[in-house]
Amino acid sequence: MKFDILTLFPAMFSGPFDESIIRRAKDKQLIDISLHNIRNFATDKHQTADDAPYGGGAGMVMKVEPLAGCIESVKSQHPSSKIIITSPRGRRLTHAVASELASLPGMIIICGRYEGIDERIRELYVEDDISLGDFVLSGGEIAAMTIVDAVTRLLPGVLGSGESAETDSFCDGLLEYPHYTRPTEFKGLKVPDVLISGNHENIRKWRRRESLRTTRILRPDLLDGIELTREDRKFLAELDLV
Ligand code: SAH
Repeated sequence: MKFDILTLFPAMFSGPFDESIIRRAKDKQLIDISLHNIRNFATDKHQTADDAPYGGGAGMVMKVEPLAGCIESVKSQHPSSKIIITSPRGRRLTHAVASELASLPGMIIICGRYEGIDERIRELYVEDDISLGDFVLSGGEIAAMTIVDAVTRLLPGVLGSGESAETDSFCDGLLEYPHYTRPTEFKGLKVPDVLISGNHENIRKWRRRESLRTTRILRPDLLDGIELTREDRKFLAELDLV
């Protein structure tokens, strides 16, 4: 998977992309991340990348020419990559969207700054628009990191055998069950007996039930979108009686 990130602040990416899962994925050449400084495509001697908005008002707008130059240069190297912008008006990043993006050959992610980018960039180049949620970030860099992270962990071979994306929240449409590790008791709170029992069938059932219970309490909307087994329905019915 080829990630090209277009940003005014490439240095922001060094920490998050140099540790743990993303770093391993890079080392194994399962992903390749290139950072492109939009400012390098500015044509004036001050390398101006932003300007005052037409119509007046507060803030600055990212200029069209440097960004267009940057996009065209990167797209010519990776013609099959999808051009994605990060913005609060985009479609919300969910597990389903991350899985969809994980099936692409590559993506070119544009990080906005200031009030955002000149609208003509969107009209001319942008193919997808992704938002992290209904709030405003200072820039698209953290959104781009989030997209890269969420997509990378879904790529085949990225997670080791000890880690699994399949049991993670949202993968089967539910939130995940609770986890425990040693010690068996902490400040009077005990690990549920079933998890220490060694009975795999009971453990499976307990985890499924806890997944259903947590989802029912915290995100009941998710239950509408998934296929439930007879066992699931029975358990949910029992919960309703409590
Ligand atoms: N004036 C804009 C916000 C600009 S914030 C508005 O009101 O909609 C500057 C940049 O941060 C945006 O261009 C975008 O790239 C990024 N950004 C802000 N909030 C975001 C969000 N919720 N999801 C993804 N990117 C976001």
